[in-house]
Amino acid sequence: MDGGSGDIQDVWYAARAMDGGSGLKTRSMQFVNATKFKSAIVRAVLVSALAVLLASSPNALADESPRLILQITVDALRGDLPSRFKNVLGDGGFRYLMEDGIHYTNAHYQHANTETIVGHVSLATGTVPAVHGMVANVWFDRELDRLVYNIEDSNYHLLTAGADIDRKTEIDPTQKAATVDGRSPNNILTSTLSDEMAIHFAGRSKIFAVSVKDRGAVSLAGHSGKAFWFSKASGDFVTSNYYYEQYPDWVNAWNARKPASAFSGKSWELMHPSSKYLFGDADDRDYETDLAGFGRVFPHAYGEADDKYFTTKLTLSPAGDELSLDFAKMLLDREQLGQDEVPDYLAISFSSNDYVGHLFGASSLESEDNLARLDRTLADLFAYVDKKVGLSNTLIVLSADHGQPEAPGYLHELGIDKAHYFDTKVLDKTPAIAALKKQFGIGEELIEAYFHPYIYLNRDLISKKELDQALVEHAVAAELKKFRGVADAVSSTALRTASLPDTVLVRSILRNFHPKRSGDIYLVFEPNVFINEFDGLTVASTHGSPWRYDTFVPVMFAGAGLTAAKVNRPVTPYDIASTLAAYLNMKPPSGAIGTPLSEVFVK
Ligand SMILES: [Zn+2]
Repeated sequence: MDGGSGDIQDVWYAARAMDGGSGLKTRSMQFVNATKFKSAIVRAVLVSALAVLLASSPNALADESPRLILQITVDALRGDLPSRFKNVLGDGGFRYLMEDGIHYTNAHYQHANTETIVGHVSLATGTVPAVHGMVANVWFDRELDRLVYNIEDSNYHLLTAGADIDRKTEIDPTQKAATVDGRSPNNILTSTLSDEMAIHFAGRSKIFAVSVKDRGAVSLAGHSGKAFWFSKASGDFVTSNYYYEQYPDWVNAWNARKPASAFSGKSWELMHPSSKYLFGDADDRDYETDLAGFGRVFPHAYGEADDKYFTTKLTLSPAGDELSLDFAKMLLDREQLGQDEVPDYLAISFSSNDYVGHLFGASSLESEDNLARLDRTLADLFAYVDKKVGLSNTLIVLSADHGQPEAPGYLHELGIDKAHYFDTKVLDKTPAIAALKKQFGIGEELIEAYFHPYIYLNRDLISKKELDQALVEHAVAAELKKFRGVADAVSSTALRTASLPDTVLVRSILRNFHPKRSGDIYLVFEPNVFINEFDGLTVASTHGSPWRYDTFVPVMFAGAGLTAAKVNRPVTPYDIASTLAAYLNMKPPSGAIGTPLSEVFVK
């Protein structure tokens, strides 16, 4: 059951009135002056005025709260990209957000590891990885003695047979690290905004999240919502039995239509004449990745539906986002989101921009056209939400899980030659580390692994040789700092004992540090230096650094009668969850550190 006008609902209204949240004041007043409305007299006046209001206009209060929170994440959307590629954008998509909404143009993450799960969970929980615990896409679990994929959970399994990762064709190296097909949010240590909605509205809020990437959906659905994601193996949107014992009928109906197959034999083509694009005359660059015949130039052919990499290619193009939109529209309709006065929550994470950026770079014709196509996808989504719920009843927020670097090849063309790739696989065999090992009397492998962003040392060997872990960490980190392309190497023991200088970089690494999940040494490469080889697949660029191009994301609020504004003061994406919580008069998520953004409360 969701909503209704029974006793509990009346109590809810009354409680909101007692909190100082009523239709009698504007939201900005309510937010700024909430504490001034605590006296019993004011309260009594408010409650009686409220009773009159309720009697005369039953919908007056329902209009106050949005019926739907629509949280959109665009994977790897660096903060400058929507404005930079504005020439290829139409009406009703990004322009609606930027021109009719509130556009924060100076939003940066403050944690060091700007990877997908880290950013998504930071958006969901309003806090840093040191608090929410999702420190990396993968980490080495010392208790399990194996690598762990962020949301894998052996207590659960996928509801669809044959939808597990196909190891032969999976190109996402982090997803490939998963050893079981089960997925759940159980590794997320603090509550999400969606959890707080479930708690606050007594389980009446409908909470859903959709993405091509499993981690893009599971993160935002939180512990209480429902998540759906795209399986490249089966071509369906799937979920795990953490969420459902069996699929709702509409999910079976959507999958039975086989929407992915509609792209069979088709190609990703340019939306506009090439002269309209900033990169219209720069399609073919030798540093772009040609994956399984997808090519470096338009048109990019998807191949036939039974080809091995067919569904993978859909995710590397605007098709992945179009499938997510199609699924989300059916969800919105069939789950009746936003149809009563209890606010519902729908999160959609559009993944294609990230994959396109990895393969072709942020400054490529592919990235530019993908954004133009995503802009149409957003316009379609907003028009649909307007029809079904009303944009005035919907609070939209869009951000990204991280930004994006430039491909070194692109920078080289411009005479910026500091950019290069770094090989972490040979670290243990370098002369400097070999000399150090000799000093410690170690013949075996000391640097056991590098799983971004951490180096893992051979702890068994260190204790067998009766060496001091802190000393070895410190010595290895000191050597690594001298390597070309390394900006800093920070030992976890040093972080624990606070024996480091208070620098911007160290702070960002500390915000990323979780004692049970972080590795032994945090390695920071210099700007525009990164690893580009994932499990045999070479890509044009990789995000994940603490540098500004990776921390920079857009934050845009729209709908719900907000007053348009462009805001350039520094804000953080952690502020989003706190803003939404304050907007709904709820308590913030349990670990939230963000500050509510005041512009969102001005009407
Ligand atoms: Zn991402």
